[in-house]
Amino acid sequence: MKKQFCLSMATLGFCLSLYAQNTDAGYFVIHKSVFTVDSHTDTPLRLMEGALDFGTDNPGAGNCVDLPKMVKGSLDGVFFAVFLGQGARTPEKHEQAYLMANRIIDTVEQVVKRNESRCGIVDSPFQAYELKKKGRKAIFMGIENGYALGHNIDAVGHFYKRGIRYVTLCHTRNNDLCDSANDTIGFGGLSDYGKKVVKEMNRVGMMLDVSHISDSSFYQVIRLSAAPVIASHSCSRTICDNKRNLTDDMLLKLKKNRGVIQLCILSDYIKDIPQDPRRDSAFKALRVKYNGFSGLSDEETQKARRAWHDLQQQYPARLATVTDAVDHIDHIVKLIGIDYVGIGTDFDGGGGLADCRDASQLPAITQELVNRGYTKQDIEKIWGGNLFRVMNEVAGLAAH
Ligand SMILES: [Zn+2]
Repeated sequence: MKKQFCLSMATLGFCLSLYAQNTDAGYFVIHKSVFTVDSHTDTPLRLMEGALDFGTDNPGAGNCVDLPKMVKGSLDGVFFAVFLGQGARTPEKHEQAYLMANRIIDTVEQVVKRNESRCGIVDSPFQAYELKKKGRKAIFMGIENGYALGHNIDAVGHFYKRGIRYVTLCHTRNNDLCDSANDTIGFGGLSDYGKKVVKEMNRVGMMLDVSHISDSSFYQVIRLSAAPVIASHSCSRTICDNKRNLTDDMLLKLKKNRGVIQLCILSDYIKDIPQDPRRDSAFKALRVKYNGFSGLSDEETQKARRAWHDLQQQYPARLATVTDAVDHIDHIVKLIGIDYVGIGTDFDGGGGLADCRDASQLPAITQELVNRGYTKQDIEKIWGGNLFRVMNEVAGLAAH
């Protein structure tokens, strides 16, 4: 009888320990206790389309970041990318891009103002930590595509004053600053104007974002920048061979620069997964119909985006998983250490994994990190500590 009692107590203990592993007692407690920041989302695109009420939980595909999802996923801060598709490189179009960037910032400010009891715009790690203490979410801003800077070097200071804390130098096509990873060789790296922009960004304390730029552009930025740089949403090219990802040599240079790579969870950059051929041909046809998404009017752009979302619903992509994503983190950490990696999801711009589709599911990444033996201190660095270290160093260098 006594023996039986002992056995059942042991069984109970075993069950309790299993329960502890599978609930809040483990990874989620760590996830909630560290400051979590996502360095790249295209949520302003959704705001500009009027397709998103940031204050409510928006169901349906394509809406990855809103306040209820941030609360559920314990995401404390997010960088909203002020995204500009690359258009013609003429003075008129540069002026339009500059004005559009300002309009997007206006919209973000209005949306945050409408929800100010629950979030606020911040431009430093200190402000973000202060908001977390008050239970509010921190909204940072960056510009995705130096197209917004046109040929006006003063635009760097202007956007800094408006709260922008990084500029991704280009997008999927070359611009007047530098060559893109997805375009043909133009300047062979940075243009003379691009070199001036690098120096000016160092001077004002704006972070340089090397995601999307060509390999030559990357090496030239690293050589020229006095401050650490970020790759706001990129992965490892050794793990997934995509031009948007960084090679091991680039990662080693990034470490030397004291910069940080923020892992992008866009499936194509994580793992090459064969897709339904019908999906491929439908998207190819859409691209032809809308002229490769270039030179479109605002109305056509909206139509193309809606058609793109419809196709996503009709032929859902086969996606990589959190396990695949953490393989990239493992590789980067083994190569350059724990101090140079973070997370930039690209949510609302194509980012999302089979088992992490929006901000509410981000704790799954922490769970995988814990399963692989990462400590709370490691996880704190990955979820924002490293990015904030770079932010503070860039600001400190500018101040001196
Ligand atoms: Zn991007």
